Amino acid sequence: MDVELVTVGTELLLGFTLDTNAAELARALAGVGVRVARRVSVGDDEAEIRSAVAGALERTGFVVLTGGLGPTSDDVTKRAVAALFDAPLELDEAYLAQMERRFRSFRRGSVPASNRSQAEIPRGADVLPNPRGTAPGLWLSGGPGTAVMLPGVPHEMRGLLEEQVLPRVAALLSERGEVPTTRSRTLRTTGITESGLQDALGALEASLAPVRLAYLPQGIGVDLRLTVWGLPHAAAERELTRAVEALLPALGRHFYGEGEADLAAVVLDRLAARGWTLAVAESCTGGMIGARITAIAGSSRVFRGGVICYADESKVRDLGVPEALIRSEGAVSEQVARAMAAGVARRFGTEASVAVTGIAGPSGGSEEKPVGTVWIAVRAGEQERALGRRFPGGRREVRRRSTQAALDLLRRLVEG
Ligand code: ATP
Ligand code: MG
Repeated sequence: MDVELVTVGTELLLGFTLDTNAAELARALAGVGVRVARRVSVGDDEAEIRSAVAGALERTGFVVLTGGLGPTSDDVTKRAVAALFDAPLELDEAYLAQMERRFRSFRRGSVPASNRSQAEIPRGADVLPNPRGTAPGLWLSGGPGTAVMLPGVPHEMRGLLEEQVLPRVAALLSERGEVPTTRSRTLRTTGITESGLQDALGALEASLAPVRLAYLPQGIGVDLRLTVWGLPHAAAERELTRAVEALLPALGRHFYGEGEADLAAVVLDRLAARGWTLAVAESCTGGMIGARITAIAGSSRVFRGGVICYADESKVRDLGVPEALIRSEGAVSEQVARAMAAGVARRFGTEASVAVTGIAGPSGGSEEKPVGTVWIAVRAGEQERALGRRFPGGRREVRRRSTQAALDLLRRLVEG
């Protein structure tokens, strides 16, 4: 079963609003085995909407729209689609009564005239109740096919999608004897570039069929998305498992988790398994490592605290880094990073520690140590390791990448 998506809103065309609705719809529909064949955005214009929907219905007979269901004069989706289905708009008394109750419960008086238009329903359409807003979703089936209209506000759209649209789509598929078939898994990697991964996996790719591989660079790592289309559920899962088993040895230590796995959570798990505690010493990352770690619920069983030692004096005073070392090697150096990691572990009494010192830019670089130069040191148990990197990108990227690289170096050390 194929569908097309039409997202409505002049602000989408102007680039003020990112079309997250289309992306969410596509992901969710793929998840129940429906292929999105095409997506377009059109402005708040009746003729444009009508022509986009007519084209979509001609090609696939099924279209999902978002946006333009509100009460204002620029909300014209319903009128445009109803005209295409020759379905006159009729006041739905039951829905109006429900809106009256809703307005009263929010002490907003009676329903304003402009909102009354939201209770006008194309004849024959199913009303999809929207408990999060005033515009209901509409499911209209008829001569030209099926058009599903959803509000533009993302959380309202999402609610209707989960509660109303996906169950109806799944029912349709089983009526037609089609099985929900698109399955995917995501393997997360870090410390290797997209092209590095491509080189490592290129030879394997053909053998993975029918599983398809997509490389999704995230700035702080590359996600590998494995997708199977058109197989029954159990067979699809089997193919995915086979592909994952083939890929993991080739990914080696670069792989750190599946799906939404967070590197900070992985590090915490590894440390907790050893019964080790952690402290951080951060210069150029200014607390970003601590923020990543404390974003994970339960991090307190492992994380003790840290020092943001931005100035040289702080590295000396708070962590005991020898002043002479900073003078001879520079604050951004392997020796200083190691001394920071040792100092913070001593100060907090932890078995593990991580330290970062670098030049995030845009100023502060030199010939010998250009912007993006970062030294990371980690300690865990008896072991210690340091790594010098030169990260590309602006200040923001350098700091994000330093944070990720520091967490990754610690993970690798603890994993042994
Ligand atoms: P309302 O009842 O609030 O008027 P609506 O169905 O008329 O809802 P729009 O007016 O088109 O929807 O959009 C409401 C808001 O939802 C927009 O200001 C925008 O921020 C957001 N929005 C609309 N379309 C999208 C989209 N495709 N992706 C992400 N956000 C969207
Ligand atoms: Mg609106």
